[in-house]
Amino acid sequence: MRETFLPFSPPLIGEEEIAEVVDTLRSDWITTGPKVKRFEQEFAAFIGAPEAFAVSSCTAALHLSLLALGIGPGDAVITTPLTFCSGVHVIEHVGARPVLVDVEEDTLNLDPRKLRNAIEAAQKNLGVHVKAIMPVHLYGHPCDLDAILEIAAEYKLAVIEDAAHSLPARYRGRMIGSMAASAKVPLLTCFSFYATKNLTTAEGGMLVAPRDLLEEARLWGLHGMNRDAWKRYGSEGSWHYEVVRPGYKYNLTDMQAALGLHQLRKLPGFHARRRRIVERYNSAFRSHPELCEPTERDDVDHAWHLYVLRLDLEQLELTRNQFISELHERKIGCSVHFIPIHLHAYYRDKYRYRPEDFPVANREYQRVVSLPLSPRMTDQDADEVIEAVAGVVQRHMRKARPALQLRAVAP
Ligand SMILES: *Cc1c(COP(=O)(O)O)cnc(C)c1O
Repeated sequence: MRETFLPFSPPLIGEEEIAEVVDTLRSDWITTGPKVKRFEQEFAAFIGAPEAFAVSSCTAALHLSLLALGIGPGDAVITTPLTFCSGVHVIEHVGARPVLVDVEEDTLNLDPRKLRNAIEAAQKNLGVHVKAIMPVHLYGHPCDLDAILEIAAEYKLAVIEDAAHSLPARYRGRMIGSMAASAKVPLLTCFSFYATKNLTTAEGGMLVAPRDLLEEARLWGLHGMNRDAWKRYGSEGSWHYEVVRPGYKYNLTDMQAALGLHQLRKLPGFHARRRRIVERYNSAFRSHPELCEPTERDDVDHAWHLYVLRLDLEQLELTRNQFISELHERKIGCSVHFIPIHLHAYYRDKYRYRPEDFPVANREYQRVVSLPLSPRMTDQDADEVIEAVAGVVQRHMRKARPALQLRAVAP
């Protein structure tokens, strides 16, 4: 067993990031300034988008997407029950109605085959105008974007991608975040730089969108003022500004962008390291019929933000929660992604959801475990996780039942 506890997803911050933050602190700009500008440009170039808007979180980017699209009371937005609560909260914030659509069995992403019915039913039964679809590239595995975009075009809906997990990921050879120009509907992409994510600025996010929507989001994201502070107080600036929206304050600071600039350079290396750990996990867990490894479809490159193992609860004599406690006793940190939205008290009570309303999300939630995955992990760390998982499985394998044995001898 391990000597020390293996944390689930610690950040990996190097001396370069630390020196850049110190450099920022010694400069004249600590909040939104030249480093944010550079980070936006380098990030956009990295994913292959014309421009990007750095914000204080992915939640802010999602909120600004809805505001830029003018979504509000009387409107509805379709999303998945298997996600973090903040993507659904922002739909509530703008006064629109969230409509949940169940997930696919393999990827656990929003199921495009269930979209048409959900859109028709929402318009007919709820008296709302469906305006957008907000899919989540869950765990870093891209959604079936072409199928989603096709339905969006048919119903004239915008698509807001929650890409909190999917940096860097590719769908049919194209980077997530690079497809707005070729889409037939408004396509906006929201990234997260929260401490556990594949690239971190401690807190932070990035919005990528077509130019007009990005301009509108910039207005909403900084008090609704039509010039930002850097331009106002810089050498070529003037003191005058106009307020044209009751905007929010969602800007990223130069201290955070200082982290992001170096994290971005290191991202390909981080990703390669994640993939190596995933390959080690997959090759070990393949031989256990009690475990189901994550899916990676042929037409995607997975960002491998999370490694989510699924337990075959028919073959194991323990629950997922017991599985996690036993791994914890073996000094391995784990987590669960996510508690489905419709089971949370606020949404359950407000919309009268029952657990079985989204049967795939509800069933899979009972058996998902996120194992440690970070570029900080060594091969030995990965092997110790494998050993601990194998140990727990060994201990709790369901014994063959007498009835089954009887059938085996007398068919
Ligand atoms: C982390 C996360 C968010 C929120 O990101 P913040 O940057 O913390 O606002 C949104 N959606 C998903 C799926 C996430 O995992």
